[in-house]
Parts: sequence; structure tokens; C-alpha cells
Amino acid sequence: DELLRNADMAMYHAKEEGKNNFQFFMPAMNKQAHNRLLLENKLRNAIEQNHFQLFYQPQMDLKTGDIIGTEALIRWFDPEQGMISPAEFIPLAEDTGLIGQIGDWVIKTACGEMKILQDKGFPKVKVAINVSAFQFRHGKHLARVISQSLVDSEYSAELLALELTESVLIDDIKETLGILNAMRGMGITLAIDDFGTGYSSLSYLKQFPIDILKIDQSFIRDITTDMSDKAIVSAIIAMAKQLEIDVLAEGVETLEHQAFLQSQGCDYVQGYLYCRPIPADELFSRWQNKELTTG
Ligand code: C2E
Ligand code: CA
Ligand code: CA
Repeated sequence: DELLRNADMAMYHAKEEGKNNFQFFMPAMNKQAHNRLLLENKLRNAIEQNHFQLFYQPQMDLKTGDIIGTEALIRWFDPEQGMISPAEFIPLAEDTGLIGQIGDWVIKTACGEMKILQDKGFPKVKVAINVSAFQFRHGKHLARVISQSLVDSEYSAELLALELTESVLIDDIKETLGILNAMRGMGITLAIDDFGTGYSSLSYLKQFPIDILKIDQSFIRDITTDMSDKAIVSAIIAMAKQLEIDVLAEGVETLEHQAFLQSQGCDYVQGYLYCRPIPADELFSRWQNKELTTG
């Protein structure tokens, strides 16, 4: 029994490392698996107790300097541990399928909170929601939750955007295309997240109805000094323009980043230079104080 258990654990690690790979079992794997199980139980509990909150990060138009949208980013506040980063628990939530319940909550909450803000006078800009491959594999459920959330919150589909990673698009092309076309038909905006880091098959850009490419922040970081990053970003922007897809650069932290993106004709930007992700009420007061501009 122990041999099988350990072999299974080693296989799990090999899978995590990618395909065509092997791993020998090491006792440390036991500890990792144990920690994972602890976190999974904690996550189940957090879902029951609703220990989550959405933060919002503005997305800005580089030409007008105005806010054009906000991205909803989940935060987990654990009573003992404090804030746990989504980078830590979203991958686990995806592996275990718990992202289904979490994702439903995110959609409902984002529509509800943005509707409240807009009723108070906040500009009618889009809210972008991160949707994982698991949610797309349950496309009918996803479509139902989105429709129901829009109805319940009286929020308009035209003001909703979904951010998908490239992994969503390679799953089952025919099925995915059907779901995406249905969403598009409802008036929902579709964005590709982390563009350039995934499967680098450009064919999906013409197959799928995509409105926005989000250039991954790893390309933006050294954009002023690294010649390859410069070339990649310029090329993505030029290609998107030809395909009539808008481009948003993530992780914009400095005025130098902004200046380069502006010179290349990038449409939209998002990053700490403008605003960190913050709760809805804080977003509202920042806007009231006229603090949400590109300067
Ligand atoms: P992402 O979708 O690529 O989100 C952008 C991440 O970059 C966010 O991290 C954001 O806080 C961070 N960021 C924004 N501006 C800057 C900047 O100027 N510099 C730097 N260094 N970072 C910046 P966060 O909030 O920790 O989220 C991490 C990831 O977790 C997200 O990456 C997304 O993949 C996932 N995630 C977050 N919320 C959700 C959700 O509700 N559902 C799903 N499925 N995934 C989510
Ligand atoms: Ca995103
Ligand atoms: Ca991203």
C-alpha cells in the first residue's frame, strides 16, 4: 500500500512538471501533499464561511486617460493566517474543482458590486472577471450563472468582460467556440489574459471571437531596457491592430513603461502606476477624488 501511495505521489509531481518526465519519490513529497490537503480543507471551509472579498483594479485608456474598466481580483482573508494570495489558492481550487463554486461567487459578486457603484454615479465601465479552464469545461453551467447574475443584479451584459487564458482555448475547440460565440452574442467582451506566455498558437486569434489581448506583465517589466521584450510587445501591438483586436498592457509600473506603450499605440493599460487592486468602496472614493487618470 505504501509503495503504491508513494509511487502515486511521485507520478503526481511528474505531471506537475509537465509531460515526458519522471520523478523519484522523496519523503519531502509527503509533507507537500500533507500541506496541500490542509490548504484544501481550509479552502472548503473558507467557501462555506465566505471568507472572500473582491478587489478591483482600474483599466485605463491611454489615449483619453480615462478609466475604461476594472478587473475583479479575488482575495481570501483567513481569520488566522491573514490574506492568502490567489496565486497560492487558485491553482489548488482549479485542481480540486472548487474553482466552480468560487467562480460562481465571483461572477455574482462582481456584477452586484459594480451595479451598486454605478447606481451611485461611478462611470459605466466594464468589469472584467477571470474565468478558469475548469469553468469553461462546464460551459452550460457557466452560461447559466452569468445570465442569472446579470438578471439578479440588473447589470448589463455589455458591461461584462471575461478574461480567459490561452489554456481555455486549446481544450476542445468546437465546444469552446460555441460557448464563446454564445457569450459574445449576449454582448459580453472577451479578453485573452497573460497573452504570450501560453501555447503560442496564433491560429486561435482568427478562430475565436476575441476583443482584447492582455499582454502579460512579464513582457512589460523590462520593456525599457530589454530589446527582445521591446520587440515582442511592439509586434503583439502591431499584429493585434491588423486583426482589429484591442491591446491592454498589464503590470505597468512606471512612466517609462507608459511612454513606450504610448509610442507603440497600445490602447489600454493596467498596473500599480495607476492603482493597486482595492475594494469597491475605495475605488469609488478614489474616483470621486478624481484620482483615477493616467496623469
Ligand atoms: P492575473 O489575472 O494575471 O491578474 C493580474 C495580477 O497582477 C494580479 O495579481 C494583480 O494584483 C497583479 N498586478 C496588477 N498590476 C500590477 C503591477 O503593476 N505590477 C505587478 N507586479 N503586479 C500587478 P493577484 O491579484 O495576486 O492575482 C493573481 C492571479 O490569480 C491572477 O492573475 C489570476 O490568474 C488569478 N485570479 C485572481 N482572481 C481570480 C478569480 O476571481 N478567478 C480566477 N479564476 N482567477 C483569479
Ligand atoms: Ca486577469
Ligand atoms: Ca494577466
